Amino acid sequence: MTHTKIAIIPGDGIGKEVMEEALKILNSLQEHDSSLQIETTIFPWSSDYYLKHGRMMPCNALDILKEFDAILFGAIGDARVPDDVTVWELIMPIRKNFQQYVNFRPIKSLPGIASPLANGRDIDFVIFRENAEGEYSDSGGRIYQNQPQEMTIQNTIMTRIGIEKIVQAACDYAYKNGKTKITSATKSNAIIHSMKFWDEHTRRILAQSSTALELESIYIDALVAYFVERPQDFQVVVASNLFGDILSDLGSAIVGGLGLSPSANLNPEKAFPSMFEPVHGSAPDIAGKGIANPIAQIWSLALLLGHIGRSDLEELIVHAIETVLREGIVKTADIGGQATTAQMGDAICQEIIKMN
Ligand code: ATP
Ligand code: MG
Repeated sequence: MTHTKIAIIPGDGIGKEVMEEALKILNSLQEHDSSLQIETTIFPWSSDYYLKHGRMMPCNALDILKEFDAILFGAIGDARVPDDVTVWELIMPIRKNFQQYVNFRPIKSLPGIASPLANGRDIDFVIFRENAEGEYSDSGGRIYQNQPQEMTIQNTIMTRIGIEKIVQAACDYAYKNGKTKITSATKSNAIIHSMKFWDEHTRRILAQSSTALELESIYIDALVAYFVERPQDFQVVVASNLFGDILSDLGSAIVGGLGLSPSANLNPEKAFPSMFEPVHGSAPDIAGKGIANPIAQIWSLALLLGHIGRSDLEELIVHAIETVLREGIVKTADIGGQATTAQMGDAICQEIIKMN
């Protein structure tokens, strides 16, 4: 019996629309499986909330969220609210306070998706992006402002423990999932302090690991080319914050785009709730039209269920998504069809009921 509390933050734009479909699937799973006991609480924290209250979420939001086992997040973003507000007042505090130092993204080719880059190849790998330190730091600044010698310094901060944790998480995943190789993204030939440090500690963790995992370190410039030329060769890719960010978007483009790409911000120790969200944003250009693809959000729910110990349901959902895409009857506009968000959600839901 799994009794779990999940916080739901639909957010803005298509976030709200695709979240409805994920909840439809969660409810259906619960109806058909009495061992799945999930209590959901919906929080309306969004740009609308900001416009009413002057903040993206209440002061005690993190205390509230801490009591949950996981967070399912939609998307935020609204032309009336500056981008840095939505990111720094909602997403970042959650990621940082809950020590979600792993950003996990599966990159998997799907049937029936005409992606020129996937080109019919069987692509199935995951990216572990360091999510808490590295190149994305506020350390640095500008000097000699408005003078000819004006300059800026942007510091990268990497800690031994930070590298250890992300690499270990990648190794643990590899071990649990029968993978044999870890690919590390580096650039130690040019970024000689931080990236050499990254390489050294990555090598050390792999050497200490009780399982025999092959480690390949590849310069980021070569690695992006290999992602395109031979994406089928990767199993588990581990990368710093910046390199992981870039590789993740490329990975998602290879297999068919934003509407299909889920992600997880993980605190592997489970000391704090992890957060699951589609890679896409609020997509203001199509919001309100009911045509967004809900697959990325539904797959994010699948990752959440896997995280709380129900890998069987994760597999079930992914299988249902694959079956619907393989049949190719119900497709949203982004993947070449005309189905609505709700029709896509219904089709996946029906498939789950059939398989259950
Ligand atoms: P935000 O500022 O919230 O990130 P954005 O303008 O960057 O919003 P994204 O959500 O990142 O928009 O989307 C980029 C493009 O991909 C848009 O043209 C959008 O319509 C499309 N897109 C994103 N998600 C989906 C989806 N689930 N289904 C269909 N199209 C999508
Ligand atoms: Mg965006």
